Amino acid sequence: MKNDQRPLEPTAEEIREIANPIIDLLTEFLTNIDERPASANELTPELRAELAAPPPEGPGELEPLLDLTRRASEVAFETAGPSYLAYIPGGGIITAALADLLASGYNRYTGKVTPAPAFVALEASVLRWLCDLFEMPESSQALLTTGGSLANMTALAAARTKYADGRTGKAVVYVGEHGHGSLAKAARTIGVSRHHIRMIPSRPDLRIDLDRLRELVAADRAAGLIPIAVCAAAGTTNTGTIDLLPELADLATELEVWLHVDAAYGGFFQLTERGKKRLNGIERADSITLDPHKSLFLPFGTGALIVRDASDLRRAFTEEADYLQDLGENDELPDFDTLSPELSRDFRGLRLWLPLHLHGVGAFRAALDEKLDLAELAYQHLSADERLELPWEPDLSIIAFRLRDEDDEAQLELLRRINASQRVLISSTRIEGRIYLRLAILSVRTGQDRVREVLEIIGNSIPSRAAVSSAIS
Ligand SMILES: *Cc1c(COP(=O)(O)O)cnc(C)c1O
Repeated sequence: MKNDQRPLEPTAEEIREIANPIIDLLTEFLTNIDERPASANELTPELRAELAAPPPEGPGELEPLLDLTRRASEVAFETAGPSYLAYIPGGGIITAALADLLASGYNRYTGKVTPAPAFVALEASVLRWLCDLFEMPESSQALLTTGGSLANMTALAAARTKYADGRTGKAVVYVGEHGHGSLAKAARTIGVSRHHIRMIPSRPDLRIDLDRLRELVAADRAAGLIPIAVCAAAGTTNTGTIDLLPELADLATELEVWLHVDAAYGGFFQLTERGKKRLNGIERADSITLDPHKSLFLPFGTGALIVRDASDLRRAFTEEADYLQDLGENDELPDFDTLSPELSRDFRGLRLWLPLHLHGVGAFRAALDEKLDLAELAYQHLSADERLELPWEPDLSIIAFRLRDEDDEAQLELLRRINASQRVLISSTRIEGRIYLRLAILSVRTGQDRVREVLEIIGNSIPSRAAVSSAIS
């Protein structure tokens, strides 16, 4: 029976008619993903015109609409596939996407406890698991955000409210030289002057230089400014390098500033034995940014923040609102709106809860262990190649390399040759003024076969020395 009178409320049969082809489409997408080109992202004018069409007044046909999404999805870096070793991958697991479908289908209101206490309890259980993973105290509180950038911003807002409430004009934020750009952006967004964002120089091993940090803070205090937060990395986006966390925790305590650890890339390696050892000290942070859409393999749009003391979040984000007065308060469960900049929000908890309970934590641990193994394999293989230079042994799963004794242009030419294979997409960066190529091994679907193939492609893409010099002259 067609529900023509109320088309926005399809009948049971119609729901299945719409849902099944969508599930079929996704299943086919995932089945063929290994063979898809790594970076076929050229948007043709024809497709662009097709996509620009405004919605019709009357109903459309499902099949051509789905087909259009399929064709659009193919104009992209294959961010879900095994070939994606650029920037910071993650891959995205399908069970999280299906959890999202459930979450928006139920459409419960989880910005506060009262409208859906059980779903808030479900999300709270995942948040407690996150806090426990990092050995945070009872007083701690985690939050799910849309990504690492918003987690960083939320953390800095809490630090500012704690140390410089009403005096943001004097607040100073310290970010490691290799820290992520979202930290400076977060500082500016909460009103910190761009002249009060200090870049902390690194040591040759790319970790924050503690003596320099101490000097910067002392100079700022002497000038009447208010140091609020030091942002460390675990690990950096360029090389996956983890700062000296125990030493930084000691120093932050001594200096009485907030220690924020940006672990958007590396945080979930805490699940592995090796990762936990390397991340030692992270449990002493005042706040930790995590990105489940990176190292927990969830779909984009999933970040997290852990704050050691929930009251710091409450002080920063609680506002009275008369129109919410009926909703009351709950001593056991968190009203997320009092802990974050958001009020209404999607029910993000299910996106973590379902995969974690369905696959078990061990499946994630094993996948992350595999990435560490693959990174080790790649590092050993590339370091054995005399034509390449790899100055930094990876702490986690990012490997930076460059052609020995060649200029930056030669590095970019090598990048183009590697990526031209369409079997892999890697990216480049600049470290200490020189261009490096980097392999970021973190996609859930990247396994040993693909990494071996990529290493072979890299080897075969290195021009012979004669060819390089003649190209330059
Ligand atoms: C990706 C990343 C961010 C930003 O996170 P988004 O989820 O992209 O907003 C911040 N810090 C580090 C170290 C990252 O790798």
